[in-house]
Amino acid sequence: MTAHVTEIDLDTATEIAGLLKTLLGSAEVQSYVAGGLMRGTGDMLALTDPATGDVFATFADAGQEVVDAAATAAQVAQGEWAAKTAAERGRIMFEIGRQIRAHAAPLARLEAISAGRPIRDAQGEPARMAEMFEYYAGWCDKMTGDVIPVPTSHLNYTRHEPIGVVTQITPWNAPLFTCCWQVAPAICAGNAVMLKPSELTPLSSLVIAALCEKAGAPKGLVNVIAGAGPTAGQKMIDHPATGLVVFVGSAQGGAMIAQAAAKRLIPSILELGGKSANIVFADADIDRAIVGAQAAIFAGCGQSCVAGSRLLVHESIHAEVVEKLSAASARIPMGMPLDPATQIGPVNNARQWSKVDTMVRRAIDQGARIATGGGKPEALAGTGGFFYAPTVLDGVTPQMEIATEEVFGPVLSVMRFSDEDEAVALANATPFGLAGAVWTRDVGRAHRMAGRVRAGTFWINSYKTIHVMSPFGGFGQSGYGRSSGREALAAYTTTKSVWVETAADPAIAFGYAPG
Ligand code: NAD
Repeated sequence: MTAHVTEIDLDTATEIAGLLKTLLGSAEVQSYVAGGLMRGTGDMLALTDPATGDVFATFADAGQEVVDAAATAAQVAQGEWAAKTAAERGRIMFEIGRQIRAHAAPLARLEAISAGRPIRDAQGEPARMAEMFEYYAGWCDKMTGDVIPVPTSHLNYTRHEPIGVVTQITPWNAPLFTCCWQVAPAICAGNAVMLKPSELTPLSSLVIAALCEKAGAPKGLVNVIAGAGPTAGQKMIDHPATGLVVFVGSAQGGAMIAQAAAKRLIPSILELGGKSANIVFADADIDRAIVGAQAAIFAGCGQSCVAGSRLLVHESIHAEVVEKLSAASARIPMGMPLDPATQIGPVNNARQWSKVDTMVRRAIDQGARIATGGGKPEALAGTGGFFYAPTVLDGVTPQMEIATEEVFGPVLSVMRFSDEDEAVALANATPFGLAGAVWTRDVGRAHRMAGRVRAGTFWINSYKTIHVMSPFGGFGQSGYGRSSGREALAAYTTTKSVWVETAADPAIAFGYAPG
């Protein structure tokens, strides 16, 4: 992709340049490799402000030289990192958390502007990102193996060893979150990282790499490649240093990445999309369920992998829920990301805006009805931003594209059901299995639903809460492997079985006597 810079937003460009200078020491967007910035050699790429549609920076796609330098630096740094004591690694990871907290305000502003995230959301993020490093800091000196009571004369024990260099590829919807979420367990397990954020939102990840080093991590332990997927991303996967690929993105992208990794016989972890069902029974606290349904789909402008994009409502309360939900959704403050009152910002990019709108129009053609929203809100029509009104589509049926395909925008599809079996059948009627929720006062039903809905994360009378302490990942086309929690450490290590002969008599050990 070559940038066609027709209009530069000078105000945004100046502010971003200032933030980068403060946080990275240079206003130029480059890759962060081996503890310093490195200019790419590929085509020029553009960064666009989602709230105005104007380009605020350009940068050169990282070429082979950048990837090679990052891979070499990562290999060297991994050796240095592994040579430190586990307690020392833990202290450095704790310090990374402190550095993130110390730089929270400019980091939040950088994320809000460059990714279009409302400042009220972005401001809360650095503390959560710090928590990720602090949580895994605690695991560094607790990664013990087992002693296995084998029926021979051996002492047999296991070691959980780092994979070495891990390539991580992340999307544009929550770049700061996704970067920390993947880097923290990877380095806790003793690995070095080459991370490629989306070419649309590389800035906050570059800052995290610099803060890791500032906290005492070896130069090159965390490298961030500013570049595009099919170019830089592919080169990272193909590099012989890469021992594991972690991909966070679309199901289509995941299939390509898994194939590329399989060609090299290296493992992959895939965190992909979803079409999660939020199920409301007639005995639920309806007003709470309606607030929860809005948070489930409209937080992050619907650009969340776990978005509750399908609302399954019992037929007896369907009319009441749609009416109240539509009225409330139309009132959610949507606007500029830096306005503290804004609860929903823009869609991240023009291509995604068009995808959202096309899917809404096709759903209407197929018989769905717009209860609220659809298209760009009138109040923001004068801006060049990629705003899309919070949209509720009623009358969605299982055969429609909108019922099974991920939209990744602020669009809620409402469907009705008559009993528990039908609710479960509808919930499980997509190839995805990322998340889901049930709203009911019936404790038995709540737990039955938790067991019957195929999803990696399930909430009861709640939605969206996730935490670094708890495992996260998908069923089906939502991916495989688990990020966060103790389970992520298993994914980022490989287990070695060590056999120590303890028998005094070699005849016992080898079955023959020395002759
Ligand atoms: P995407 O698949 O288009 O891109 C994701 C990343 O892959 C980007 O960094 C991109 O540059 C890179 N990429 C693309 N083609 C590549 C290739 N051939 N080789 C190597 N890298 C390549 O996804 P997106 O549009 O950026 O993000 C939206 C998707 O991400 C949604 O489907 C969403 O559900 C998913 N997502 C999942 C999670 C999760 O944890 N399960 C979290 C956030 C987002």
